[in-house]
Amino acid sequence: MNLFSLRRTPPSLDDLTAEYRQSTRHDSVPHDYLMPAIERPAPVFVRGQGSRVWDAQGQAYLDFSQGGGSNCLGHSPGVLARALSDQAYGLLNAGVGFHNQGQLNLAQRLCETTACDQVHFFNSGSEACDGAIKLARKWGQLYRGGACRIISVSNACHGSGFGAMAASTPGVFDNRFEPQLPGFSQVPFNDLAALHAAVDAKTVAIMLEPIQNAAGVIPASGHYLKGVERLCRELGILLILDEVQTGMGRCGTLLVEQQYGVRADIITLGKGLGGGVPLAALLARGRACCFAPAEIGGSHHGNALMCSAGLAVLDTLLGGHFLAHVRESGQYLQDGLTRLAQRHDQGELRGTGLLWGLTLGDEWADALVKAARQEGLLLDAPKADCLRFTPALNVSKSDIDEMLLRLGHAFSRVRTAQVHCRKGIAV
Ligand SMILES: *Cc1c(COP(=O)(O)O)cnc(C)c1O
Repeated sequence: MNLFSLRRTPPSLDDLTAEYRQSTRHDSVPHDYLMPAIERPAPVFVRGQGSRVWDAQGQAYLDFSQGGGSNCLGHSPGVLARALSDQAYGLLNAGVGFHNQGQLNLAQRLCETTACDQVHFFNSGSEACDGAIKLARKWGQLYRGGACRIISVSNACHGSGFGAMAASTPGVFDNRFEPQLPGFSQVPFNDLAALHAAVDAKTVAIMLEPIQNAAGVIPASGHYLKGVERLCRELGILLILDEVQTGMGRCGTLLVEQQYGVRADIITLGKGLGGGVPLAALLARGRACCFAPAEIGGSHHGNALMCSAGLAVLDTLLGGHFLAHVRESGQYLQDGLTRLAQRHDQGELRGTGLLWGLTLGDEWADALVKAARQEGLLLDAPKADCLRFTPALNVSKSDIDEMLLRLGHAFSRVRTAQVHCRKGIAV
């Protein structure tokens, strides 16, 4: 029913204006109702388009975080909005107890394009990593005499579920809500001998991120990952690759394992898979496909609406020269960041495709992120001395140029503040 039809007289222009203001007054909503989950800066975002996002005050920002890489096609891409809208009018949710066409389509397309045999959909990367641990333990029950121990690596971060958290490095979370899930151990990353020594009869899998994300974009060496794969085959344990960040074209190929020339038994996907809506996946190959009915489930797993988003994203990534373009843009971003880092005397640049981490000469990443925001640029700082860049995969060269310009200003801004601060102390 039209709101205005309840009124006896048509609304005046003033009424309409007031009503519009009321309906668009985003900035006065208090945030005390939110549980404190993560420290957030003041801006309240209300609109996004491509690499740009606007706050309630109308301030535009260039977004080189894109929700930590989740918005792989940028903000509100037409292809995704249309797919979601069409699906929303057609069927939102058949219920987890029934098939829906979207889930079947996405499952087939995802398995065919990643050379996997089966998939299960989740709502978050963390949940998919929990699922990977369950699947590995099921495999251990079936084929390895009940072996259940998962080996992960130093500085890992697989998410916040109890399984994913147990596989992550203790320092990642301020509170791990002890006691932890038993059956996990960690070895140093990029250290093959340490892994070899750690595998025992109770071990069922090694789980790692091919490029560590939260640790500050730290890649496994090619030699290491190949070696891990070989070791897994020799010792008869599973290789689980967490590609929640590196998958879905982020690194210039659909999965980053392709670049390393390895084949995991189990792979997790998340972030970019939904292009900004919550969708994650657990993929498996061969004998690792061993769940039986009623072993895994969730009300929204394979939700028709979310799967329509996944299909739109996947079709876009695989269409035309999209991934070649990601590699090209990645090279352009790498070159630009290298020059910028040299000019400002900063440290090492790591990554590939459109996933980059820049280690700074000092622990001033938070100050830089703040200064960048004042320059209208959104970035992440996974570590106190590291900036992370995860722009839209279809980011333009001119947006990359603009980002470099704004980041340069942010560097100068923080430098100036530091000099003033030092002078203040000296006086
Ligand atoms: C983000 C991330 C996760 C967790 O995914 P959520 O969707 O935040 O639960 C797990 N592993 C890696 C490598 C990630 O980058």
